[in-house]
Amino acid sequence: MKYASVIVNISHGNLDKIYEYAIPEEWESCVQIGTQVLIPFGAGNRQIKGFVLGLSSTSEFDPKKIKPISSVITDGTILESHFIQLAAWMRERYGSTMNDALRAVLPVKRKVKEKQKKYLHLVVEQSRLDLFIEECEKKGNKARLRLATVLKEFSTIEMAQAIKEHQVSRDAIKALERLGILVVSTKKVYRNPIPIHISEDYCITLTQAQQSIVNAIIENVQCKKLKPCLLRGITGSGKTEIYMEIMDDVITQKKQVIFLIPEIALTVSMMERFYQRFGDRITVLHSKLSEGERSDQYERAKNGEVDIVIGPRSALFTPFERLGLIIIDEEHEPVYQNENQPKYHTREVAIQRAKMCEAMVLMGSATPSIESYYKAMSGEYQLFTLEERANGSLDTEVSIVDLREELKKKNMSIFSRSLVEQMWECLTQKKQVLLFINRRGYAGFVSCRACGQVLHCPHCDVSLTEHKNNMLMCHYCGYVQKRPKKCPSCGSPYIAAFGIGTQKVEEYARKEFPNARILRMDGDTTSKKGEYSKILQQFNAGEADILIGTQMIVKGHDFANVALVAAMAADLSLNMNDFRSAERTFQLLYQAAGRAGRRKDAGKMIIQTYQPEHYSLKMVENQDYVGFYEKEMLYRKILEYPPFGVILAIVVVSKSEQKVTQAAMFLKGAAVEKQTNGVTIIGPANATVYRVSERYRKLLYIKAKQLESVLEIKSFLEGFVHYSEAFRQVSVYYDLNPMNGY
Ligand code: ADP
Ligand code: ZN
Ligand code: ZN
Repeated sequence: MKYASVIVNISHGNLDKIYEYAIPEEWESCVQIGTQVLIPFGAGNRQIKGFVLGLSSTSEFDPKKIKPISSVITDGTILESHFIQLAAWMRERYGSTMNDALRAVLPVKRKVKEKQKKYLHLVVEQSRLDLFIEECEKKGNKARLRLATVLKEFSTIEMAQAIKEHQVSRDAIKALERLGILVVSTKKVYRNPIPIHISEDYCITLTQAQQSIVNAIIENVQCKKLKPCLLRGITGSGKTEIYMEIMDDVITQKKQVIFLIPEIALTVSMMERFYQRFGDRITVLHSKLSEGERSDQYERAKNGEVDIVIGPRSALFTPFERLGLIIIDEEHEPVYQNENQPKYHTREVAIQRAKMCEAMVLMGSATPSIESYYKAMSGEYQLFTLEERANGSLDTEVSIVDLREELKKKNMSIFSRSLVEQMWECLTQKKQVLLFINRRGYAGFVSCRACGQVLHCPHCDVSLTEHKNNMLMCHYCGYVQKRPKKCPSCGSPYIAAFGIGTQKVEEYARKEFPNARILRMDGDTTSKKGEYSKILQQFNAGEADILIGTQMIVKGHDFANVALVAAMAADLSLNMNDFRSAERTFQLLYQAAGRAGRRKDAGKMIIQTYQPEHYSLKMVENQDYVGFYEKEMLYRKILEYPPFGVILAIVVVSKSEQKVTQAAMFLKGAAVEKQTNGVTIIGPANATVYRVSERYRKLLYIKAKQLESVLEIKSFLEGFVHYSEAFRQVSVYYDLNPMNGY
């Protein structure tokens, strides 16, 4: 006998209400995870519908007491079935509980009260109303009289308006309703998060290169040749126009589109283009919406009232019944990996979801991830390339500045001589400058120059960084303290911050260019909602000459007047404990270069670094994506990193150092037991930041050529963790092909 766990009402709040049923033999072959079934429920055996969440061959209950499934529903809703199947697939691949996986695909937390508008309608003849008015006047009933007079003027009026503008009382409304003079109707209204609705005529003629890509992809969609497509096109090559053209075609075919972007706040201008073209057939879904707004957008999507949803990775789970296309813009961005369990990768899940409903996946980037480009090269994806900028603007001229030479020439500033020179040139010509750094706040740690002691967070093993007003802050847990006057270890007063951060860049810039108007944008100045776009708007409107910020200022914006972009210290992202650090650095700098040359005049970019010979910087200088890809692949191949192999990070966390050590050793032992040929097990080792918020973190890595060998070990470890006493008060997380180092 086989058993199925069945959920009756699949929603976020009901995931713990799961019941077990037996599967009669006749149904065994067609019951799978996600299947909709009819079950006898409760004491009266009422027949209700449910979904199968899990299957097993044993039951924890007395088999005699388990009711059998009545039948399998084949013509029911397939959307929920798909989501359950998707969750099961994610659980299996990325490692998490089924509950966590379901929570990831069912993002609406609770039903929010519907927003409604009420209307009052006059339902009697004018003559009858006149009689009533006379009666009220006679009796001196002013409240009823006022309402009746309003109804005489407007036979239908919104209730709120009647109350607010005409001082009608609720009691009077009730009274007239009772008397049969008016009826109240309710109309559901959706909270609409989209501020503008300009639907002008859209008139851009695609270039031949753009048009032929559009044609090819549309044809693929129509003939159901659904191999995922990868579009590599430099910034400004017209990818967004291609997306919109294809989307237009897909929605004309009565299908729906999910358009994924890394972050809403950074794509304001792109969103406006979408609204202009698609009007209110489009909506957004993201975490900054109120719960009511979000719930309404889900409802609209589910009811088929919108054709296009734009949003970050969670928008992938928009409940579209007629999904035809998923677009992933800037597909290389690390935010496409989920932060929580399951640590799914949006690209992979999108392809999985698209398979279930015969939809197309289109990914685009100027600098595709190494993994995706590899898949395109090996034929798993179909590759399209755009080599030229659509609006005729010129390439950026990139130059690398060796900071070691600056030091030799006794230039102690964080601005190299050629950067200063070019900034002057720019500012004199009334052009704008972008200065960016790959950190926030004062990047440097704070240390004692007498004894070398570095100041650490008391809760995490990470150095504190200095912010304004001598405040020291931990970026892992948020701990803040004042900078001590004396070194806690030797008492020396020479305590100082090292390295550079956006605040420091700003200080120097103000000294060097006292007449320039400077704006700064980073995690510290932009924590408030709406700050991003305010600063961007100010800069775009020419209210400042220099914009200083973290990497976010070079992502996705279209600045018309910027002629110079500079990476203040490229090394900051090169030297991270992460196998993707060269790729990250290349992508970031390459995209930054795209910020300068968006108009007719060629822009300039300066990369300041201590490692000028590093290939990822050289390839930015040559604007050579393919060259970078080939170099990087050599390195990945030698070390068997993705895409040549699979790497699974296992993070073991506990408040007790003894427990975390023991648990990690146990896991290692268990993994070794299942180790097959070609599998490497690394660790356990302490995470780079060993202690975070009082919790210790140990790491194990499992590397293999084949995904299957890694998943086999993972499943074994999951069972082990579930049953073993050693894992009380210990958490174990899995991270497949991690996007960040630990
Ligand atoms: P990407 O998404 O690749 O950065 P966009 O689609 O945003 O490129 O295009 C860059 C700029 O070029 C935009 O201002 C866009 O309006 C313009 N553009 C794109 N395609 C064309 C075209 N065929 N004709 C004229 N302008 C175009
Ligand atoms: Zn000291
Ligand atoms: Zn901390």
